[in-house]
Amino acid sequence: MKKLIIIKYGELTTKKENINLFINTLKQNISKKLINYKIFINYDKGRMFIKGEEEDFKTIIKELQEVFGIHEIIIGYELDTLEYEKIEKQLVDLLKDKVFKTFKIETKRSNKKINLTSVEISSKIGSYLLKNISNIKVDVHNPELLINLELRNKESYIYFEKIKGLGGYPVGTLGKGILMLSGGIDSPVAGYMTIKRGVKIEALYFESPPHTSQEAKNKVISLAKILSKYNNEIKLHVINFTEIQESIYKNIPHEYLITIMRRMMYRIAEIIAGHENAKIIINGESIGQVASQTLTSMVAINEVVKIPVIRPLACFDKLEIINISKRINAYETSILPYEDCCTIFVPDHPVINPNTKTCHEYEELILFKDLIYKAIKNHEIIKINNQEKNKYKDIL
Ligand code: ATP
Ligand code: MG
Repeated sequence: MKKLIIIKYGELTTKKENINLFINTLKQNISKKLINYKIFINYDKGRMFIKGEEEDFKTIIKELQEVFGIHEIIIGYELDTLEYEKIEKQLVDLLKDKVFKTFKIETKRSNKKINLTSVEISSKIGSYLLKNISNIKVDVHNPELLINLELRNKESYIYFEKIKGLGGYPVGTLGKGILMLSGGIDSPVAGYMTIKRGVKIEALYFESPPHTSQEAKNKVISLAKILSKYNNEIKLHVINFTEIQESIYKNIPHEYLITIMRRMMYRIAEIIAGHENAKIIINGESIGQVASQTLTSMVAINEVVKIPVIRPLACFDKLEIINISKRINAYETSILPYEDCCTIFVPDHPVINPNTKTCHEYEELILFKDLIYKAIKNHEIIKINNQEKNKYKDIL
C-alpha cells in the first residue's frame, strides 16, 4: 500500500475537445510548482497521481493549493489490487488509528469489467468492516467517517478527506494577457482573477522617476511576485512614463490630465501586447470608483485601442475586492504608502465626462507617438520566478 496525492480536475473535465491540452498543461504547471520536491506524476483523463516523500506531503499540498485547474486534492492510498479480500484487509489496517462510530463507503469503479456494481462493492466491504471492527455502524446520511474507494484498471484507491483546490483552468491554456499592474489594491486582484481563467499574464508597470520612488517600484515587484505563485513566473515590463507625463502636464489643460495619461497607457499596453503575442489587456478598473472609471471616461480611454480590455473587477464593490486581496496575501503590500504615477499628477477637478473629440485636439499638442516609441524602446524587463531556489540545480 502506497500513500500518495490524488488530484481531481473538476471543471476541466467539461472541456472535451481540449482535455489533453488542459491536462498536459496542468501537469507541466504542477511540475514547475513542485520543482524542489522529488516527485513522480502520472495521470489519466480523470485523475492525476503524485508520488513522493511522505514527509513533504504537507508542504506539497500547500503549493498545490496555489495551482489553478485543481478541483480537489486528496491524500490517499494506492493498492496494487482489485481483489475485494485484499482491499478489505488493508482498509481495516488503515482504520486502526481512526476514531469513529458511524461510516459510509462510497465506491467508484472506472473499470466496468468488475463483476459487482459500485453499490454492491460498498455493501460487501461495509459488511466486512462491521464484522471486523467493533462498535461501528453504517449511517448513509450523516456518517462520521466517509470512506472513498475507487477501483481503476489494476489498482484501487482508498481515501478519507478531500481538500478544496482553487478551481479555474490551468494557467496558459487560454493564451496570454498584459496586466496593467499598479501598486494599488485592485490590479493584483484583477490579475489573480484572470490567471484563474487560464490566461497567463505578463505585467506592465508605469513608473515616473523621480516623481515616483524605488520603493514604489519595489512594491509592484512584490505584488508581481505574489501573482507569480499562480502564474508560474511573471515577466514584468517597466515603462519609464516620466517624459510622457511631464509633457502632458505642461501642455494639456489639467482637467484632462488623467484621461490623456490613461489613453497613453492603453496605447503602450496594446503595443507591448502585440510584441508579446498577448490577446488582451487586463486592468483593475471598476465602474464608478474614480473619475477615470465613469462609463464616459472608459469610452474615451478605451477608444484608442482595438485589443479587448478585460476588467475583471468592473462590477465589484471595493470591499469585495479587498476581501480577495487579503485572501491572496496582497493586501498588506498594496496598502504600503508609496506614491503612484497617477496620484502625483492628479488634478483638483478631473473631468468626469471627457469628450473624445477634445482628447484628440489636446493630444495634437504633444508629440505623443515619438514619446511612446521611445519609452517602449528603452523599457526594462524584470523576470520574476516564483521558485527562489531549485535544490536540484546544484546536482545537475
Ligand atoms: P489600483 O488599486 O489597481 O491602483 P485604482 O483604483 O487606484 O487601481 P486607477 O489608478 O485609476 O485606479 O487605475 C486603474 C487601473 O489602471 C489600475 O487598476 C491598473 O490596472 C491601471 N494602472 C493605474 N496606474 C498604473 C501604473 N502606474 N502602472 C500600471 N498600471 C496602472
Ligand atoms: Mg492606482
